[in-house]
Amino acid sequence: MQNDRIRTTPGPFTQEEAFDSDNVISTISRVKILVIGAGGLGCEILKNLALSGFKDIHVIDMDTIDISNLNRQFLFRKSDVGKYKAEVAASFVMRRVRGVNITPHNKRIQDFDEAFYMQFQLVVCGLDSIEARRWINATLHSMAESEDEDPSDCIKPLIDGGTEGFKGQARVVIPTMSSCIECQLDMHAPRAAVPLCTIASIPRQPEHCIEWAHVIAWDKEKPFPALDKDDPEHITWLYQKALTRAAEFNIPGITYALTQGVVKNIIPAIASTNAVIAASCCNEALKIATGVVPSLGLEENYMMYSGNDSIYTYTFKHERKDDCPVCSETEQARPLPTDLGMTLGEFLDSFRERPEAQLKQPSIRAEGKTLYMQSPPSLEAQTRPNLEKTLKDLNLEHGFEVAITDPAFPTLSFRFTLTPKA
Ligand SMILES: [Zn+2]
Repeated sequence: MQNDRIRTTPGPFTQEEAFDSDNVISTISRVKILVIGAGGLGCEILKNLALSGFKDIHVIDMDTIDISNLNRQFLFRKSDVGKYKAEVAASFVMRRVRGVNITPHNKRIQDFDEAFYMQFQLVVCGLDSIEARRWINATLHSMAESEDEDPSDCIKPLIDGGTEGFKGQARVVIPTMSSCIECQLDMHAPRAAVPLCTIASIPRQPEHCIEWAHVIAWDKEKPFPALDKDDPEHITWLYQKALTRAAEFNIPGITYALTQGVVKNIIPAIASTNAVIAASCCNEALKIATGVVPSLGLEENYMMYSGNDSIYTYTFKHERKDDCPVCSETEQARPLPTDLGMTLGEFLDSFRERPEAQLKQPSIRAEGKTLYMQSPPSLEAQTRPNLEKTLKDLNLEHGFEVAITDPAFPTLSFRFTLTPKA
């Protein structure tokens, strides 16, 4: 096969052992690889891995196919709408690429235990959720640290692709040896919200007018009991309101689609960005599996791609963070500038927005005491009154350490030391 020459011919950077006993083709066909996500990136990744010679692939995705996926998730057809993505993608690729075996799992990643993940040599993620990435990152780290197994068997390189419109990134995490997804969390800071005063008084962009309809006009007029972002009638109401508002300020550009996009916080998926990022993830998988040429990993580990303003890519080494709650060995608490006059409720809310935390359901303990717990319900009810109290009232001081937990990451505790606000 013409295709095999690249894999059977050593290059100047080839590691000796890659060519020692077996050739590359047999190496790659022995690798068991896990793909997480069978959506826009996942379709590309499954196709590329199969065509690169991987023979034993598993894919996890709990989603079913929606009609809106069909414009770019090319393994799906109209007759597949409503079926599981993982299942349809697996059987499509198996039909087209001879000799590949793809095992689909129509489940959530959280439904599997460490023993399941242990069977793979490599994990490739094509996800749109930061939470799922953080979960698999924490799981692969806890596996790498498990002491009763041979460490070389427990370290599963994680190749992660992500796209947002014309932008994307491909990165490789070698658990316990390189910077991890949690270290890099601030690369995915939640987008800054437009200040309410801009929306209320001086809109400059069509998005501001839509936000005005969404947060101000809707609340004032309550056209329907509750906003259903999937109901075309509700979106139409917001669209009409935004149009009127925009006409007042001479702002062009309001459309129904834009209204829907802003309200649902949708960034359009670009098929070719997915293709670029998936391709580079799969090349890294091929390189790691075979050792034919150096891959992203211990040195350079992060490739960013931007097509927003012409085209630009940059590859660099993202350093580990000494106080990373997942991969740091020292378990330092992170300094957290805090105003002790804020209520516990406000304090907990701030963990949603903080780029290094991004926790949606935080519970908190401090100085050996539980200050607020999300569950069980009895403990939640018992600790709820604390949400109204200020940190000072709860006897917290600067220099104290607090531990935040979140049900999305059951194995992690995020520790912070309260420091004075600059
Ligand atoms: Zn880390």
